[in-house]
Amino acid sequence: MILVLKQGTNREAIDTLCDWLTTKYNVKTNPIIGSEATIIGLVGDTSHISAQEIEMHEEIERIVKVQEPYKRANRKFHPDDTIIKVGREAIGGKKIVVAAGPCAVESEEQIAELAQIVREAGATMLRGGAFKPRTSPYSFQGLRAEGLLYLRRAHSLTGLPVVTEITNPSQLDLFLDYADVIQVGARNMQNFELLKELGRIDRPVLLKRGFSNSINELLMSAEYIMSEGNSKVILCERGIRTFETSTRNTLDISAIPVLKAKTHLPVIVDPSHAAGQASLVEPLAMAAIAAGADGLEIEVHQNPKLALSDGPQSLTPDAFTALMKKLSVIAQACGREI
Ligand code: PEP
Ligand code: MN
Repeated sequence: MILVLKQGTNREAIDTLCDWLTTKYNVKTNPIIGSEATIIGLVGDTSHISAQEIEMHEEIERIVKVQEPYKRANRKFHPDDTIIKVGREAIGGKKIVVAAGPCAVESEEQIAELAQIVREAGATMLRGGAFKPRTSPYSFQGLRAEGLLYLRRAHSLTGLPVVTEITNPSQLDLFLDYADVIQVGARNMQNFELLKELGRIDRPVLLKRGFSNSINELLMSAEYIMSEGNSKVILCERGIRTFETSTRNTLDISAIPVLKAKTHLPVIVDPSHAAGQASLVEPLAMAAIAAGADGLEIEVHQNPKLALSDGPQSLTPDAFTALMKKLSVIAQACGREI
């Protein structure tokens, strides 16, 4: 339920109304003073709330019922785009953010060199997996804590904020020391205990869509994080499983405008895992920006043939640099910058 307040309602009146609502109906209140309107979102069991009782308050302009099960992630609750600060960067604003780097951190030298390469090409963040959730237990599992340390050192060298994937709630303290953005991978999108833990910290979370999950399920997973208090959630479309076998996954381009309409959260796209082949990364990345994505996550490797994971979909430094130049033209045409 959303209460739209009359224009000019002051902060004190908003607070008094929120206190009354919490005491009377045992619901959580979420006041948003936006550029167009001031609203109070009500979260919890709202079935017993009396509209007539609420309308007795002179500040109320109108009451809107929210049918969707996601509330805090809902654009109706927060009409303006959410912009998430990461270091000096802002995700969800006019500037397109690009997180680039290897699938996995392989050595200190590798990640340090790649960080400098992607920064030079215009990337805004450094990605790299330290704990790798591989399909096979016999594949490279990542350098784990050592990998996080090397990512942090690459950050010190370049200033690029670090995005890296958590796979288990027990790693949380370590990630708070080393990661600027904590990634939840496709395979863990519905690891609800992990999501709840991430909701209790104050660190941006990059939540990837599970490859067999619907858009609404992605939003419900965001709601799990937000319901615990952390509203810094960045959504990521990374391709879904379909009957098509020509690509590793099918990039759901429609998910971008659909998500932008349903939620105020920033939406980025990972064309690397969607495509599974380096030659497809450029067209998918360009399409994502044209469709309204707020950013990209792209795998880059000095020597894709020798990569310990996801080499076939990794761009070489030259290909990444060329892509960034093309993306800046698309971004400009869409009223964005990169
Ligand atoms: C990754 O980004 O390293 C990754 C494993 O991606 P996903 O979870 O989307 O498969
Ligand atoms: Mn990968």
